[in-house]
Amino acid sequence: MPTSELTPDRRARIDAVLADNSFLAELGLLFTDAGHELAIVGGPVRDAVLGRPGNDWDFATSAKPDEIERITGSWADAMWDVGREFGTIGLRKGSHDLEITTYRSDAYDASSRKPEVNFGDTIDGDLSRRDFAVNAMAIRLPSAEFVDLFGGLADIEARTLRTPVTPEQSFSDDPLRMMRAARFVSQLGFTAAPEVVSAMTDMAERLEIVSAERVRDELNKLLIGDDPVAGLRLLVETGLAAQMLPELPALILERDEHHRHKDVYEHSLTVLEQAIALEARLESAPDLVIRLASLLHDIGKPKTRRFVEGGTVTFHHHDVVGAKLVRKRMRALRYSNDLIDQVAKLVELHLRFHGYGSGEWTDSAVRRYVRDAGDQLQRLHILTRADCTTRNAKKALRLQRTYDELEQRIAVLAEAEELDAMRPDLDGAQIMTILGIGPGPEVGEAYRFLLDLRMDRGPLSEADATEALKSFWAARS
Ligand code: ATP
Ligand code: MG
Repeated sequence: MPTSELTPDRRARIDAVLADNSFLAELGLLFTDAGHELAIVGGPVRDAVLGRPGNDWDFATSAKPDEIERITGSWADAMWDVGREFGTIGLRKGSHDLEITTYRSDAYDASSRKPEVNFGDTIDGDLSRRDFAVNAMAIRLPSAEFVDLFGGLADIEARTLRTPVTPEQSFSDDPLRMMRAARFVSQLGFTAAPEVVSAMTDMAERLEIVSAERVRDELNKLLIGDDPVAGLRLLVETGLAAQMLPELPALILERDEHHRHKDVYEHSLTVLEQAIALEARLESAPDLVIRLASLLHDIGKPKTRRFVEGGTVTFHHHDVVGAKLVRKRMRALRYSNDLIDQVAKLVELHLRFHGYGSGEWTDSAVRRYVRDAGDQLQRLHILTRADCTTRNAKKALRLQRTYDELEQRIAVLAEAEELDAMRPDLDGAQIMTILGIGPGPEVGEAYRFLLDLRMDRGPLSEADATEALKSFWAARS
């Protein structure tokens, strides 16, 4: 079997990974003692060569699932069935999660052209059906022999994504690999080879047969990667985005309201980059929600564009329309309701600050901003700040200062009023006692009245709140 030469420093890097994880050699011995082959494959090999921290351990073996279970049964701390029909068994050893998969070789039913999973006998066949050469390298265990049949090392050197077989064949076998190309562009900072880009362009429509969940998972990994803008540009340029996120390429036609050459598409990518630069404020960084919201904040613009006299363009209510489109697209991509609510809320609120002018908001307006943002307030701060892409440095600085001031006011109000837990001055039980009513929708009505009052006037004493409630009730009856 041909193997590429590792440079001494890369060999040393791999040996260090093996030495730090003594369970690897142990596991390899278990398999060879049972007359089987075992190798680390895919992501962990690539990441070890790159000197990048990996997240999971994937193995390929000549053993079938039953044999994998038998061989590792008493060694592993836990074992589960990841997908027996695909040959994958999951294991836990200490703090490590491992996935061991039987060698595969694809067989094609010439009539349906649908790949079915067939177990194979050699690592060569298994590696040849992997997505990219950089993901098709292996380290045999326990020998630590490095296997690189498709020039993965050279590709890592050149920071390129190429497929082991022709890209046309590879992408017919599984069109998701086109999404994975864009994902690795973002995650690894690699470039897709020209033949890969042209196959993606020709075959983008094939993505249709891939489940929304698989597409979404790759989009998420792309978005939280180091260079999502590069990955997104590839999706748009190849026409893949038109398949799975058509609202994004739709922004290309949109000139912004100031008639700059920069269109809404370029603006959105810049906002995404600027949001990422501000993201360190969030504990959850890299943060999928802020990245989705920044990318999608203006997708209501194409639908709301109006040309008015004097050559001006308006996009009235693109925030509300955009939030609706976000919900629709994210539902189609099978995102959770929770995530959809978060992103839609940010898109809906992204313009609110522009009513702040140079600080004219009343305390009441500031409280409402905080209340409406709710648990998305920190992200809204980031999105609003990032949504300033003017080249006019003076103007940018003015906006930034104004937002600093708004955040300052929020902090002052928050300290004085426990803004985070903004509640009416009287609770439901007090409302019922004061009004002499039992539980029912009127209590909710009174509660909302008091909450409104609380936002307009700040905290009230119990006596003032009681009086206000009574006159509200009298006027209502
Ligand atoms: P990470 O785990 O960092 O997201 P990874 O490269 O490990 O990256 P996985 O999705 O975990 O990616 O897949 C593990 C390996 O399985 C890949 O490295 C690749 O060799 C192979 N692989 C995964 N999905 C496909 C696919 N759709 N087509 C071909 N090979 C695939
Ligand atoms: Mg992986």
